[in-house]
Order: sequence, then structure tokens, then C-alpha cells
Amino acid sequence: MTGAPKQISLQQWDCEYDRLRAEGLIEPVYGGPLGRHVADGDTRLLKLRYDNSPAALRLWNFLLTEEDRLRAARESGKKLVGTMKDLGTVPVMAYSLDNLVAFYPDGAWWIPCVMELNAGLLQIADSLGIDESFCPVRAMLGAFVTEAHFPIPDLLTCSVGATCDDFSAIAQRLNGLGYPILWWEIPHRRAPEADEKAVGLPGGFVAPAGLVRFVRSELERVRLALEDLSGRTMDEETLVQGITRANQVRSLLARLRRRAFTAPLCPMPALEMLIAEMLAIHFCSDQEETILVLADLLAEVDRRVTAGTGYFSADAARIFWVNPVADLQAMNLLEDCGGRICGTEYLFAHALDPIPTDVPPMEALAQMALADPMVGAAVDRAARIVADIRRFDAEAVIVSRIPGASHCALEGEIIGEIVREECGLPVLEIEVPSITDATQATLRTRLEALVEIVKEKRR
Ligand code: SF4
Repeated sequence: MTGAPKQISLQQWDCEYDRLRAEGLIEPVYGGPLGRHVADGDTRLLKLRYDNSPAALRLWNFLLTEEDRLRAARESGKKLVGTMKDLGTVPVMAYSLDNLVAFYPDGAWWIPCVMELNAGLLQIADSLGIDESFCPVRAMLGAFVTEAHFPIPDLLTCSVGATCDDFSAIAQRLNGLGYPILWWEIPHRRAPEADEKAVGLPGGFVAPAGLVRFVRSELERVRLALEDLSGRTMDEETLVQGITRANQVRSLLARLRRRAFTAPLCPMPALEMLIAEMLAIHFCSDQEETILVLADLLAEVDRRVTAGTGYFSADAARIFWVNPVADLQAMNLLEDCGGRICGTEYLFAHALDPIPTDVPPMEALAQMALADPMVGAAVDRAARIVADIRRFDAEAVIVSRIPGASHCALEGEIIGEIVREECGLPVLEIEVPSITDATQATLRTRLEALVEIVKEKRR
């Protein structure tokens, strides 16, 4: 049923969809032609190019139907938990109880891109005093006010402490608008003193045992709130099962990333890989389906690698990408310019690491929360990036800045310096706004120049 790998437009996908259906394609309930999502206002989809496999079709349909899934969950009596900022910890807890569904309202970050600024969310944020000096996550405020993008959660949690100024200010504004929030603290991750017991965290960072204990006590408060909402007990056994399912997702992603980033020919384009990685954070509101979607994608990638097929030429420049892009189209653009993705760090590396299973589950979750690259020093984050650059044998690094993001002002420079020093690779820092149309010519020139440098270096 699947043909040779080929990036196609949305219109082409709809023709391909008819062909696949005629050939007997069986889809999950959320399936259908991708073009239908444009009617919901997702006009940026018309400008993207997509992988042509049924696995990619399933991935996109899964992503683009999340709002329906949340509403259906509520109608079926489940409770919705809006988990904010921690990117990967609290959802693991929430999904261990089968009558809770967790999602990140932070995901509104991408609405200005996907709806090409037509949803008016940024204007609402402006009117609430959160202007363009903040990162695109300010769209979340507009999404709460309009209630047009996700149902208002029954419980809102938010990590504070070692979080970016943008999110702290925006979440406080949300709280001020009358949305109660359960705040839990994530302290800055620091190196242990000589006389402190050290704990190795998933992903390789180290923290003092006292910090892990503190985060665990904070997560205990979250656990009580989740139990209260659910009316069920989140005991050790329940949490262990939840962690096992989350680890299944992480293990599939680890295999998918390794296969995709190390194959001689790129077997899956950057855009689909970015969406796949995002599923790790809150499972797109359906943990079991996430496992099936990723298994499908991995099978397609395996099939292509085994058959020796893939995208671009074998000499495509191998790029490591740091930070998620506000405009998804930037991932297509990199490939147009002769690059392919071989390694990523999209701000949630800790959501991809296996959660430890040799310690009590709440301890494991606390370790994972502290392994967040964004709660420690930028040099720690850079060290982890360097390790992954080596693992995936990347030839250049792109750090994409997020407009208005407080951590982006200096962090890119620090990461760039360390990467140049440790790996001797070229580093390009670019800014990617929610819609890149006005800057695309400049971006293209800079990306092409980076690819040329990589190829020149090979000679
Ligand atoms: S500033 Fe960065 S970390 Fe903070 S919300 Fe925006 S993108 Fe996320």
C-alpha cells in the first residue's frame, strides 16, 4: 500500500487518501483526509509538505483531532487536567489513573502558526498586558479566554521556580483572571556540594539528594490533587503501571529517533519526526493510541531503512536542531536547503529519557522532573547537546531562537560557544517567528550557507 517516500502537499495528500481508501486502508476513528482540518482554520497546513505514508497520515490526524478527543473525554465523564510547564512529568502521573486525561494548554504555543495568526489569540494576550515581548506561549491566554481551542480543564497544575520568566508571568496572569492553579515548585538544579549525597538523573545530569527529596514532596501534593479529582487512589502499583506505559512510548521514540537520525538516507522527514517527539509530552491526550501511532511510524521507518529508500541524497548535511520552531514550515525549509535532521533538543529531552524503574515511582518522577534541561544551567544543557551531537554524528548545529523567549537571549550563544569548542562544528543561530513568510528569503540564504559550509568542510 505504501509507495516510495515522497513529500507531498495537502492537496496531493487528499488524492493519495482516496487512492489508499480505494485500496482498503483501515483507519482509526479519528482518520480521514487531512484537508478537512483546513476547515477548522488550520490554514498553515496548506503550506506544508508531508510524508506520504499511511503512518504519517495517522500521525497528523492524531495530532489534529486532539481537541475533539478532549471534548469526548469530558463527555464520557473523564476529568481533564491542564498540566502547565513541566513538559512530561505530571501527565505520567495523571495517565496512571484511567479516568483522568492530561494535556498541556502550553500547546497553544503553535496556534498562531497553525492558524496563521487568524485566531486572534495574540491580540487577546496583548489586551491583557502580555505583549510581544513574551514568547508565543502567550497565545494560551487567548485560548483560555475564547474557550475555542480546548475545554477548560477541571484542574490546572503549573511548575514554578526554575521556569522561564515568560511562563511564570503568563501563568500568574491566568491565575489573576480567575483560573485556580495548583503551583508546585521545581527548584534550580545545581551540582551537589562535596558533602552532599549525589543522585544521577535520567539523561546524565546529577543533583543533590536533598533536591530530589524536595521535588518528590512537591509532586506528592500533585498526587493528592489528582487523587481528589479522580476519586481514586494513585498507589505505588498504579504509578508503576503508568510509568511502564510512559516508558513504552519513550522506548518507541528512542528507536525511532535512532533509526531516523542514523540511517544513510533520511527515512522520515523532520516535520513528522518533530510531531512524533511531541507525543512524548502528554501523549496527545490518548496514551494507548500514542503507542500505536509511534509503532506504525517506526515500522514504516524500519521498512524504508531495510529497503534502502529514503529522502534527499546521501550527502545531505547532517543537522542537529536545538529548540522547537514557532513556524513548522521551517522544518520543510531546512530540507529544501539540503539539510536533514540528525539529532534534536526541543526543550523536553527529559520527556524522552526512560523513567527509572529501580527506585520508588515518586522518586523516579522527581528525578525525571529535575532532569529537565531547562531547570539547570545553560552549560548543562549544552553538555547534553554535545553528547547527542556525537551520538548522532551531526555535522552542524542550528539553534532556533523563539521570539520574545526570555531564555533565548543568551542561551544560544552559550550553547554555540560550547559546541564549537567541544565539537568544532559550525553553529547557526536563527530566529523563527510563528509565521516565517516575511523572513523566508533570509532564512533560506542562511540555511543554504550552513549546508555549503558543511559540504566544504567535508572536502
Ligand atoms: S520562553 Fe521558552 S521555555 Fe518559556 S514558555 Fe516560551 S518557549 Fe517555553
